[in-house]
Amino acid sequence: MTAINKFLFVFLALITLHLVSCNNKKNEQNWHKGNLHTHSLWSDGDDFPEMIIQWYKDHDYQFIALSDHNTIADSEFWYEIKERDRKNKTLKKYQNRFGAWVETKTDSIKTLVRLKTFDEYQSKLEVLDSFLVIKSEEVTSSFENKPVHINVTNIQEEIDPFLGKSVLDVMQRTLDAVHKQRQSFNIPMFAHINHPNFGYGISTDDLKELNGERFFELYNGHPSVNNDGNDISVDTETMWDLINIHYYKQGKPLLFGIATDDSHRYHSFSSKDSNTGRGWVMVNSKRLDVNYLISAMESGDFYASTGVRLKKVLTEKHRISISVDAEVGVNYVIIFMGYQKGTEEVVELKKTQGTSASYTFQNEDVFLRVRITSDAKKENPVLVDETKKAWTQPFLVK
Ligand SMILES: [Zn+2]
Ligand SMILES: [Zn+2]
Repeated sequence: MTAINKFLFVFLALITLHLVSCNNKKNEQNWHKGNLHTHSLWSDGDDFPEMIIQWYKDHDYQFIALSDHNTIADSEFWYEIKERDRKNKTLKKYQNRFGAWVETKTDSIKTLVRLKTFDEYQSKLEVLDSFLVIKSEEVTSSFENKPVHINVTNIQEEIDPFLGKSVLDVMQRTLDAVHKQRQSFNIPMFAHINHPNFGYGISTDDLKELNGERFFELYNGHPSVNNDGNDISVDTETMWDLINIHYYKQGKPLLFGIATDDSHRYHSFSSKDSNTGRGWVMVNSKRLDVNYLISAMESGDFYASTGVRLKKVLTEKHRISISVDAEVGVNYVIIFMGYQKGTEEVVELKKTQGTSASYTFQNEDVFLRVRITSDAKKENPVLVDETKKAWTQPFLVK
């Protein structure tokens, strides 16, 4: 090899190496696990904030938002220990875990415990680059008997529940308040519609007419929320597709689906209790930082899960590929769901058994999403024989 040839060889090798490493970087995915819907003693949950956050921290979550009803936990609140708490040994467990940090006051008849504020519990439990505590509120309104609950992730100032002339009006007022607060603080935050089928409060038609809504709960782990619908109301996954067909026709951005726990009970575990660990989101974000997470979620770079973990969700110019982070002995089915020109529904476009699959876009594809099912039984499920699933977010095929 001449000197020039040697030089060319090294030069080309370096370029190839550089291209490969750039390509790997581009395709590198950093999944962060989080739950955006939880309750503590600040509202109707039955444990102290730090105990709940500690549970998520110990179970491989990277972020958590306590979303108590109509409060952002920023005032002085002395909680009175109740009979239920004595039975559950709630204070004892809290003291055993957090020692001198716990503040109590007692007199002859009652025991009071000061609930730590958001700033306090966040500074106690957050760990830079490994565990994030996000401020949230479940803005809890209703219209007539219909519950209208909307979570606000990374809220900065409490939003009071709204009255309105319809379910749609109450939802829209809440969303508008969130957008206004976001603008005035210039901090990213978002609303997500909670459990539409809880009390069958929020219908598909209500959600279709909303403006500025990007997220809703496709799956909520509370036993009373009817994710699967009934004879009159559709399940939340069908609802999702119907809303997105409508949003697409109206030129609105597509609605994204979230899975959450909506946990309230931390001392008893059964299908009738709203427990931890049932539903979550996995967000692909370069950094574990609330701004990065929200920006990734707003671009649909996340999936909802009730147990299935994914290694890769790769959307390229002509195709989408999925690979599952498989559990040993579990069978998976990867289903590409799409809405195509000239149709009125979202249908299965391709179904593959196995741990990886890809789908090449067709000319008539308008939007697409992927559902991954498995035959792995969920631990402590709400429904008998419930199996683990995951859902990627819909995107427009260009
Ligand atoms: Zn709720
Ligand atoms: Zn809730």
